[in-house]
Amino acid sequence: MSKQFQNPKGTRDVLPEEQHYWRRIESVFERLADVYGYEKLTLPIFEETVLFQRGVGEGTDIVEKEMYTFEDKGGHSLTLRPEFTAGAVRAYVQNGMASRTNPVKLWSAGPAFRYERPQAGRYRQFTQFNAEAFGEIDPALDFEIMSLAWQAYEELRFKNLGFQINSIGCPECRPGYLDRLKAYYKDRVHDICGDCRSRLDRNPLRLLDCKNPQCQPVIASAPATTQHLCAECNEHFETLRGYLDDRKRPYMINPRLVRGLDYYTKTVFEVWAEGIGAQNAVCGGGRYDGLVEMLGGKPTPGIGFAAGLERIVLTMQAQGVKPEPVPPPKVYLLPQSETGKRCAVGLLADLRRSRIESLIGFGGRSFKALMREANNRGVRIVLILGEDEVHQGICQVKDMETGAQRSVPLADAISSVRNILDGKS
Ligand code: AMP
Repeated sequence: MSKQFQNPKGTRDVLPEEQHYWRRIESVFERLADVYGYEKLTLPIFEETVLFQRGVGEGTDIVEKEMYTFEDKGGHSLTLRPEFTAGAVRAYVQNGMASRTNPVKLWSAGPAFRYERPQAGRYRQFTQFNAEAFGEIDPALDFEIMSLAWQAYEELRFKNLGFQINSIGCPECRPGYLDRLKAYYKDRVHDICGDCRSRLDRNPLRLLDCKNPQCQPVIASAPATTQHLCAECNEHFETLRGYLDDRKRPYMINPRLVRGLDYYTKTVFEVWAEGIGAQNAVCGGGRYDGLVEMLGGKPTPGIGFAAGLERIVLTMQAQGVKPEPVPPPKVYLLPQSETGKRCAVGLLADLRRSRIESLIGFGGRSFKALMREANNRGVRIVLILGEDEVHQGICQVKDMETGAQRSVPLADAISSVRNILDGKS
């Protein structure tokens, strides 16, 4: 026997049995994107490597450790997208979208790739729904994009939802904050892990989301970004909090929430849901008011979020949320001879043209074997086409729910099927 292959580590096959979760999740996000006025943007799965180096940030885990980077046959360094924002900004700038009516609100969805240590809810290929809005600094837009995510989780009937929010300032106030943070850490270098010692100069904000137990007491007493915001960032954060309070959205200000990407300014947020253990962020996002300019555009504010769809499936399963199953096919055509098959093939095409989910029994199998298949497929109606019936211009219509069976002229087969499906006979 030849070698059997396994899927690469950190990837997964989504079998038909799980697809109804995906269908439900995708339809909720896509419908809400319309409701909130976000237009679809389809992006390439790979981009120039430097786009992510510059856009996501050199000092980040994603760029340093997690990118799937390769050289193509033309010698260009390309990277499978580890997230959507850098690509969305590239497309916004390249396609002159700044000249459209502001704000420009876009959504994308599809696979993203990060070379991470796989565990439950953490994969190397995962799927994101992503929304971005360009050209508006108003905190009402922060609230809108957070509401889009929130409403999606509400419609998916998630329990115990909550926002984690923080403001990490802007180029005006952040340098001052980082100086204080570094000064605080410099006195405690012996109490922190090796990674944090190197972060201290390279990417000090990331000190705050270190997971190493050794660093936790130091993090707990570290100065909070929110206490060192400039007046503009402070007002922006307070206004956003006012909107959240008005709508009674549960949120916690999490001074450790800095997020792993360099481009964020002001608002950062995650949605946490109970049920999937350590990986409880089902969505994360924030403002990136400097990113468009950094990637070659005019200074343009932006805000976005990404929701991880695998984690949503896991959370739905953990919380016992069951979406409607994909309905089984409705009709099974059961031919009993070559003449019957010929007639069935034509009738099948007509049924499908009428958008009635229909199957045919292939091969020259016995009546019993075909009936067993019809049963296994869970169809409502079996149309039996035997030699004699076809010669007489009729077929047998069997309602699998009631067991009733009757002869129907072939010309009336589709209307008879419809009547049964509509509960009229
Ligand atoms: P991030 O871009 O890291 O903020 O991630 C946004 C969302 O994508 C997270 O809240 C997760 O739901 C999801 N996500 C990120 N990384 C992974 C991964 N390796 N596997 C599965 N989901 C992920």
